[in-house]
Order: sequence, then C-alpha cells, then structure tokens
Amino acid sequence: MNSIKENAAVADESKFEYERILTGDRPTGPLHLGHYVGSLKNRVRLQDKYETFILIADIQALTTNFEHPERLKENIFLVALDYLACGINPNLSTIIIQSMIPEIAELTAFFSMLVSVNPLRHNPTIKTEAKERGYKELTYGFLGYPVSQTADIAIFKADLIPVGIDQLPHIELARKIVRKFNELYNCNLMKPFALIDKFSKLVGLDGNLKMSKSYGNAINLSDNFDLIKTKIRSALTDENRIHPADKGNPEICTIYSYHRAFSNENLIRETEYDCKNGKIGCVKCKENLFKIIKELLEPMNERRSYYLNNKDEVWDILFTGTKKAGLIASDTLREAKESMKISYSFS
Ligand code: ATP
Ligand code: MG
Repeated sequence: MNSIKENAAVADESKFEYERILTGDRPTGPLHLGHYVGSLKNRVRLQDKYETFILIADIQALTTNFEHPERLKENIFLVALDYLACGINPNLSTIIIQSMIPEIAELTAFFSMLVSVNPLRHNPTIKTEAKERGYKELTYGFLGYPVSQTADIAIFKADLIPVGIDQLPHIELARKIVRKFNELYNCNLMKPFALIDKFSKLVGLDGNLKMSKSYGNAINLSDNFDLIKTKIRSALTDENRIHPADKGNPEICTIYSYHRAFSNENLIRETEYDCKNGKIGCVKCKENLFKIIKELLEPMNERRSYYLNNKDEVWDILFTGTKKAGLIASDTLREAKESMKISYSFS
C-alpha cells in the first residue's frame, strides 16, 4: 500500500486494488426503492468484483428503536429476504447478523476509549439525524454509533465501504480511530476507504423528504402491485398542472424523478419532452412509471416467493454467513488484544 492510498479517505478504484467490502442495513423495517437505487443495486454489481460482507445491524437498530427489541428477529428475516430478492447472491456475499458476533461489542469498547465526546457531538451526520428524529437528548448508544460502526468495519478487515457522501465523516472518523489504535498498541488493523456513491437521494412520495421507512413515504420492494399503483397515483406532481394539455415542469415532479431513477434513456427523454409540451397527462405518465417499476420488481418477487416457501434456507444463509464472519472476527479481536497485551489465559 503506498502513501497516497494511505492518506485519502476516498477510494480510487482506478488506481488501487481493494479486497473486501463491508456494507449493511439496520433491520428497522422493509427496504424500499430508495434503498434499491441508493445501495442494493450497487451491491449486486459489486459482489462480482469484491468479496462482499453485508451486516444486518440489529444492535445498531436499537440506537433508535430500543423500546422494541422483540421486532428485530422478524425484521432481520425481512431484510435478508429483500437482499435475496433483489439479487444478493449468498455464494458471493456473506450476510451477517451483528448481535451474533460479540467480538464487535468488545472491539467497540476498546475503540470508545480513543474517541472524545465533542467530535461526536459535532459530527454533522449525527446532528442532522438527531434533528430529523426530533431528539433533544442523545443516548450514549446513539452518540457512539459511529464508534461501533468502526468496530463493524475493522473486525471484518474490510477495506472498502460503499457510502453516500453524507456518511463520509463516519469513514474519516473510523480511519482516525484505527490509526490511533494501531499507533498506540503497535497493531495492524485495516484502515477503510469510502467508495462514494454519487446517486442523490430518491425523494419520497410526498415529493419533499427523502424516501424513508420512518417517514411513511416509501414504495417498499415487498409491496404488492395494487398497493404500488395506489402509491404512484398519490405521488405529488407539478401542482400547477391541471389539465393534461398544460405545459408541465418535470424538474419539480416526483414522478419524473422516479423516471430518471428507473426508466431507460428513451423513456426519460420522451417523458421530459412530452411533459414540457403538454403532450402527456400525469395519469398516463404515472401508468408508464408503474409498468417500469413492475418490470423491475417481477423477478424480485419470484425470488422472494421462493424464499418465502423455503424460510429455513434464509436462516441457513444467515447462520452460515455469520459463522464464517465470526472466525474472522475472533481472529481480529485476538490480534487487537495481543497487541494491547491483555490476552490473559488461566493455566
Ligand atoms: P430509517 O428510518 O430506519 O432511518 P431509512 O429508510 O431512512 O430507514 P436507512 O436505513 O437510514 O433508511 O438507509 C440506509 C442506506 O440506504 C443509506 O445510507 C442510503 O445508502 C440508502 N438509502 C436509504 N434511503 C434512501 C433514499 N431515499 N435514496 C437513496 N438511498 C437511500
Ligand atoms: Mg435513515
């Protein structure tokens, strides 16, 4: 690894080689089209190129959902089902249940000694998220989630982390923590690089906030087609357009932004032209979009129903992945503890 690669937090795939990706989701509910365009689609592509580890972060889900741990098991299953439905291949990707790897919690404890509270308090991503959720007081767990994310990454020796630009401060912090740990204890834990995803956030059906589980403005990958049709019909378009022949402004239309995310180039161009020139009404435009979404989801639904009929296979995939990842985790923790000179044994 040369010094340039050492210093930059952002990965450069054209110049350097990377080996293992770590990515994941909090099992807080069904995944939606925003997740698909913002991360899942990319993961399906990347799993052919890199060894891919996908963490279902059930402990991290508790940072905002600690009142309902009993929902985690069902949600873990549903997230795994969404993964498999959208083309995550268990032979290429290792899917892991976070709470079944206790080494992550242990490494989090060691890392937490190396982080001061103020940078966490002032972390822009944490501040935005706390504001969006209306938190006045932050729990120790919520404030510290970037530290536990650092442990997630380091424990599996992952070097490439696909994230949106808003997550970059977390990767920078992770690199700082790992660097400090390595220097202090003369250890050699892997420092991660961010693989920045340039796709801007998919807006929700309300046309205002980003599509999110928590805002009730999402089209879920597991929604049935009748529901999707109803949701698309309800989506906000250019409010100044009353009649189909009125000239519209696609730039402020939610449906057009979905066309841009999911339709082919021709249909995007045609939609833009026809809308601007009053040649297509919103009803027809929404029907066109529905067809596109249906085509996208049909093959997913086929895989989903296979796994719904074979639920044990889903749990097997999860346990096999977790077991494989657990071996790497115990290896990393052993290295970390040895370098700290705290690997005691009773003889
Ligand atoms: P929660 O309500 O639990 O926060 P969410 O729907 O906001 O759920 P997250 O779990 O916060 O989703 O998102 C995980 C990742 O999924 C994000 O970092 C991002 O990569 C991607 N993602 C989520 N929502 C969108 C979206 N609307 N557009 C693009 N990407 C998204
Ligand atoms: Mg969120």
